Amino acid sequence: GITRRTPLIAGNWKMNLDHLQAIAFVQKLAWNLKDAGHDFTAVEAAVFPPFTDLRSVQTLISADKLELGFGAQDISAHDSGAYTGEISGAFLSQLECQYVIIGHSERRTLHNETDAEVSAKIQAALRNNLVPIICVGETAADLEEHGPSAVPVAQLRAALASVSNAADIVVAYEPVWAIGSGKAATPEQAEQVAAQLRSVLQESLGQDVADKTRILYGGSVKSGNIAAYMREPNVDGALVGGASLDIAEFSSIVRFQK
Ligand code: PGA
Repeated sequence: GITRRTPLIAGNWKMNLDHLQAIAFVQKLAWNLKDAGHDFTAVEAAVFPPFTDLRSVQTLISADKLELGFGAQDISAHDSGAYTGEISGAFLSQLECQYVIIGHSERRTLHNETDAEVSAKIQAALRNNLVPIICVGETAADLEEHGPSAVPVAQLRAALASVSNAADIVVAYEPVWAIGSGKAATPEQAEQVAAQLRSVLQESLGQDVADKTRILYGGSVKSGNIAAYMREPNVDGALVGGASLDIAEFSSIVRFQK
């Protein structure tokens, strides 16, 4: 049967915007979308600020009853204890984060995060009622050596190894060569890998989870190319980096149907 998945447009701010800038940004973004008549139930929009911004963003969103979602860019695999510099899922959940990005390629590359660590972080998110946005994707070298889908498929299999088939998760396919490069994957490339990732969801967690789980594309998404991705049957939204830092541009991406 046909399952409708609500599109999700997620803005990954990375290490940009301090908490004061974040408040101004979120307020303007929410107003901009509201003025344009955006229906947040038709297309969900969420922002992913740095940890130090989250309390301010939460306070603003809750006080002004804004319909924007938000989450963190990373999570500790542990819930508390002697882990200097880490942030627990319990803290994030207490701040009303709905989502947490896990296994972003910048964490896998710059912080040597392994599939095992990604898997432990997914467990931590689920334990704390956070929806993990599980990032997978191949490097340019992987692409040359193994083709487009082998590495993302292996990463997703590893990530889902200890996830239950009742889990609420999001998958983000982000080819590393497309991130911040301006060299976006074609909609056909994104669809091809997204379809394979959906098969992994089906094998690992069953048909229901495969039908309801959103698979995002990420890597040089802009207002000019979002509509083409969204026409693909297995692409249910986008994880947006650079273009999420411009209010007008991010609003246009969220309003891709217009
Ligand atoms: P980009 O980043 O949109 O700047 O390519 C995407 C990401 O890293 O999530």
